[in-house]
Amino acid sequence: MDLRNLLIGWRQAGTVSLMLCALGSAAAAGAEGASRESLAHAEMLRSRALTGTSAMAIVTSLTTEVGPRLAGSEAEARARKWALQILTAKGFAGVRNEAFEMDAWQRHDERAEIIAPYPQPLAVTALGGSVPTSEAGLLGEVSVFETLEDLKRAPAGSVAGRIAYVGHAMQRTQDGSSYGYFNEARTAGPSIAASKGAAGYLIRSVGTDSHRFPHTGSLRYEVDIPRIPAMALSNPDADQIERVAADHQDLTVRIWVDSSERPAAQSGNVIAEITGREAPEEIVVIGAHLDSWDLGTGAVDDGAGVGITMAALELIKQAGLPPRRTIRLVLWGAEEVGLLGARAYREQHEAALAQHVIGSESDFGGGRVWKLTADSQTEEGDALFLDIANLLAPIGIAPGSDDQPGGGPDLYPLIAAGVPTLRLHQDGRDYFDLHHTADDTLDKLDAAALDQNVAAFAVFVWLVADSDVTFRAVPPQ
Ligand SMILES: [Zn+2]
Repeated sequence: MDLRNLLIGWRQAGTVSLMLCALGSAAAAGAEGASRESLAHAEMLRSRALTGTSAMAIVTSLTTEVGPRLAGSEAEARARKWALQILTAKGFAGVRNEAFEMDAWQRHDERAEIIAPYPQPLAVTALGGSVPTSEAGLLGEVSVFETLEDLKRAPAGSVAGRIAYVGHAMQRTQDGSSYGYFNEARTAGPSIAASKGAAGYLIRSVGTDSHRFPHTGSLRYEVDIPRIPAMALSNPDADQIERVAADHQDLTVRIWVDSSERPAAQSGNVIAEITGREAPEEIVVIGAHLDSWDLGTGAVDDGAGVGITMAALELIKQAGLPPRRTIRLVLWGAEEVGLLGARAYREQHEAALAQHVIGSESDFGGGRVWKLTADSQTEEGDALFLDIANLLAPIGIAPGSDDQPGGGPDLYPLIAAGVPTLRLHQDGRDYFDLHHTADDTLDKLDAAALDQNVAAFAVFVWLVADSDVTFRAVPPQ
C-alpha cells in the first residue's frame, strides 16, 4: 500500500468521514499497527496532555533564566547548563552534552540611515554572519530590485560600488511554504550582489509583519566572491526605501555593521532519554533546537519546540510504563547558523543511524498542529501511521501528503543518511511575523496550543517507541 496514493485518493473523495472510514479499514485489513494495550496507553497520554503539561513552564524558564542564546555564545553555553539541570531534575536517563566546535559570529552594533534626499534613520539589523563595515560605515547609492530574480538578471558590474536592495512578496501561509522560496534573498542574495560589484546589501525582511522589527537570519557567502556587509530592513522601512527610490535615482544610504567571528567556540547537543525496555538500541528521536537568534528571547523559535518535546518526554515518563524502544530527546545546538549540531550528531552517531527508527523536530513556533505526514516505506509503517492519525483526529490533526520528507531542519542530515521522519505540521500563519525578530518573546505563546502539540508528540512517540514497526524499506537482496 502506498500511503501517498491512498492519501491522494482520500483527498479526491473529499470528506473527512470517508477518510476516517478508510483509516479504520486499512489498518484492519493490512499489516499490524499498534497493539490494543499500546493504543489505550496512547489515548491516556493524549487525555493527560490536554489537561495541562509542563511545556509552557519549560519555555518560560528557558526564555526568562537564559534569554537570547546565539549559537556558540556564552549564552548558548548557559542554555546547555540550564537544559542539563532541568533534564536531570526531571529524572531522565542518559542526560549529557555532546560537544562540538564552531566559528561563532557575534553582533556588536548596527545602524542605517537615509543620507539623501530625505535624511532619516532606518530600522535595520545585520544578517547573521555579515562582515563588518569600516568604522565610518558604508555610504552608497541604492539600486532597487523588486525581486532576487531581478538582481540575478542584472548585468555584471551594473551595481559596482553601490548598495543593492532586494524586495520580495512573501505571503502568509499555513505551512510556511512562502519562506522556503523567499529566504533565498537573505541567504544567497549577498554573494549574488557582490558578484555584480555591489559594496553592500539590503533586503526587505523575510517576514510577514508590518511592524518596525527587522528579521535577522543567516546569510551564506560563496567562496571566491567578496564578502559584503548585509542587513535587513523592517517591512515599513523597506516600503520607505522603495517609495523614495521610485522618484529618486540618487537615493543614498549609509549602513554600519560591527560584528566579529570567534573561531573554535563551543557548542553542543544536549540529550536525554527514556531507555527502552526491550530494544534499548532502537531509537526514536525527537527534539528542538536550543540556540536562538540574539534579538528576541527565542520563545517562538525555538523555545516552544523545547517546551513541547521535553514536556512530551516527561508525560511519557510520568505515566510510568517504559516503551519497548528508547526515546531520545535531542536539544540541538547551533541550528540557526547552518544545522551545525545536526551535522555533528550525524558524525558522532554514524554507526547507530541504522537503528534510528524515526525522527521528528518541533521547530515552527507554538501554533496548533493541523496535519501529520510521514515518509513510511513499509506496510506496517503505514498501518502504524494510520493508528497515530486515528488518535490525533479528535484533536484537529488530519493526515496529509507532503512533497518531500520533512520532520524539521535538524533532521535533514539524518534524512540524508536514510532515517525516516514523521512531521507534525503546525499552523504557521503568524510564525513569520515574529521569526528572527526582537519581537520573538514569551507573551506570543499560548499554553493550550502548546499542550495540543505535546499531546500529538506523546501519542506518536509512544506508539512508535512501543512497537517493533519499521518504516524503512528492506533493501533488495
Ligand atoms: Zn528554528
